[in-house]
Amino acid sequence: MNYDKSKALFQKAKQLMPGGVNSPVRAFRSIGMDPPFICRGNGARIYDEDGHEYIDYVCSWGPLILGHAYPAVVESIQQQAALGTSFGAVTRLEVDMTEMITQAVPSVEMIRMVNSGTEATMSAIRLARGYTGRDKVIKFVGCYHGHADALLIKAGSGAMTFGVPDSEGVSPAITSDTIVTAYNDAEALDHVFEQWGRDIAAVIFEPVAGNMGTVPPQMDFLREIEYLCGKYGSLMICDEVMTGFRVHYGGAQRLYGIKPDITTFGKIIGGGLPVGAYGGKKEIMRYVAPDGPVYQAGTLSGNPLAMAAGLTTLKILRDNPVIYQELERRSGLLESGIKRCVRLAGIPICVNRVGSMICLFFTDIDVKDYDTALTSNTRRYADYFKHMLEKGIYLPPSQFETFFVSAAHSDEDIQYTIEAISKAFNHLA
Ligand code: PLP
Repeated sequence: MNYDKSKALFQKAKQLMPGGVNSPVRAFRSIGMDPPFICRGNGARIYDEDGHEYIDYVCSWGPLILGHAYPAVVESIQQQAALGTSFGAVTRLEVDMTEMITQAVPSVEMIRMVNSGTEATMSAIRLARGYTGRDKVIKFVGCYHGHADALLIKAGSGAMTFGVPDSEGVSPAITSDTIVTAYNDAEALDHVFEQWGRDIAAVIFEPVAGNMGTVPPQMDFLREIEYLCGKYGSLMICDEVMTGFRVHYGGAQRLYGIKPDITTFGKIIGGGLPVGAYGGKKEIMRYVAPDGPVYQAGTLSGNPLAMAAGLTTLKILRDNPVIYQELERRSGLLESGIKRCVRLAGIPICVNRVGSMICLFFTDIDVKDYDTALTSNTRRYADYFKHMLEKGIYLPPSQFETFFVSAAHSDEDIQYTIEAISKAFNHLA
């Protein structure tokens, strides 16, 4: 395939932006090729500068549950843009948006809108510390909560690593209050609480891990988080930036029947525009300024364009529950199709799925946490990715990401994808 225009753009981009990108995974480093430059999207499809068309399973990393350039969403952005793009003042749109979220997610009684998932989790942690008067926070190995310093902690082998920075530039002092332990390991969590229980302000977790590939939660693990937070007076922060309005209209917490103290959102609630939010019980949220002593602010927070796009998206999801049924059905078709291809090709692969979040790992081990995810053969994933791209399927350019099915993917798209997977597996076998 000819990528001359993308290659030329990437050469120039690399002189102007670190790695030629504004977010590392877009550089396709783990795939070992230059990225195609995307210029347009429509429904389930995206198009690059060199004229190639792809069925897109990245969907901007999750926000585009309705697909690209969904007409009603585009229209709401256009209408709002004509009225003004930002006021730095309160608007009706923010009231409507926060009301919609509280109605969808009962554990959330009050919300603060921000501009990204990173801001949401960072602020939720600050709030938990302010509210409890405690400093320590537990996060799980392989869970990603954005790039705020205190949460950018490397996975450790064994049950637990205490405060090891994941990135240069994050000082050990900042991460020393972050305790890291294994995902889906209730026993390891018990031990952490036994040791630090009354110092723990919060446990932050992805209710479905989507940033080490897709890793479904084990129910006993979720229950243990809930139980231990209750027992020790720590706050349960459910990071639904990816899962919110994705795996269920009420988020993963509705799917699994858990009731967190604070929930973070992003992605879908902005309808494809930059957004984030954190919310929870009124008693806790009243600690946020100007009501309370925990400071947090934002020039563009509650931005009218993002609110308009998000509101339209959420209304469509709320009024058409069939969308979730169809997402489940189509994603199920994709899952069973992939599993059929796996059996035929005889390649060791683990397929994980929760609703429209799917991932396949090139390993014969059941992937349930970071260590098992790491057993995947990433070179094989890179080969597989390139074969799929050639066949017009755009997958996440990294093994350790989730791919998303949107409401715009048709049965034909799914069928074509399964055929492409079958061919790609034959090349790999
Ligand atoms: N939390 C989770 C679960 C995420 O998946 C992400 C991003 O992928 C974030 C937080 C950070 O969101 P953002 O990239 O909008 O800062």
